Amino acid sequence: MSSIPHNLQVVHDAITLAARRYDRNPTEIALLAVSKTFSANEVVQALQVGQKSFGENYLQEAIDKMQQVEQLRVELSCTAIPEWHFIGPIQSNKTRPIAEHFSWVHSVDREKIASRLSEQRPEALGDLQICLQVNISGEASKSGVDPDQLLELAQRVQVLPRLRLRGLMAVPEASEDIQVQRAAFQRLAQLGQTLIQKNIPIDTLSMGMSGDMEAAIAEGSTMLRVGSAIFGKRNYAV
Ligand SMILES: *Cc1c(COP(=O)(O)O)cnc(C)c1O
Repeated sequence: MSSIPHNLQVVHDAITLAARRYDRNPTEIALLAVSKTFSANEVVQALQVGQKSFGENYLQEAIDKMQQVEQLRVELSCTAIPEWHFIGPIQSNKTRPIAEHFSWVHSVDREKIASRLSEQRPEALGDLQICLQVNISGEASKSGVDPDQLLELAQRVQVLPRLRLRGLMAVPEASEDIQVQRAAFQRLAQLGQTLIQKNIPIDTLSMGMSGDMEAAIAEGSTMLRVGSAIFGKRNYAV
């Protein structure tokens, strides 16, 4: 059997087990369901069994899906309300719809993006929750702020109105080796500690995906971004 409710249960059980193994409190590890490439129908299936937060990478897909989810919620009399997180690369000409449609943005990696989100966030929606994406694997192709420039970026973002700096996010280089995975997550956790020591009180480490959840939990993740383990294999051709 592999249905979304079943998969969610399996993921929650894995989180509980890993939390126990690494002496973590499972209630401090949030689960973001990454629904990119999956349908509004699949989002609502997860929503109806208690999954609240959903992560999207592509803006137009996300906005279309949000509208479809709203329609489905009405048709199904579903009272649960989804919380949307933007986790993909951000072009500066796309910040306005992001500021208007999402509760969280995990992929802020430069000041220009942060200041535009700050200016464009509608006051009535409350603060936009922000994570800074850090390039911890050091590959030229990956997005994320260089660790050397993180403190300066955090200091600038922290003072922007209508944004609330919550923490750090990373997508490390893929590896099957849990020790390699842990080393990368440990670097992000240490960068988080450095910010706290510099009086930037963050509370979020957005790290860990379907293939490296356990390593992320071991190193202090407070938000796992899990797609395929919940929704199944992605088909980018559709
Ligand atoms: C797609 C994606 C995920 C989820 O990946 P899975 O391996 O399907 O769990 C998490 N974070 C980001 C930034 C992604 O783009």
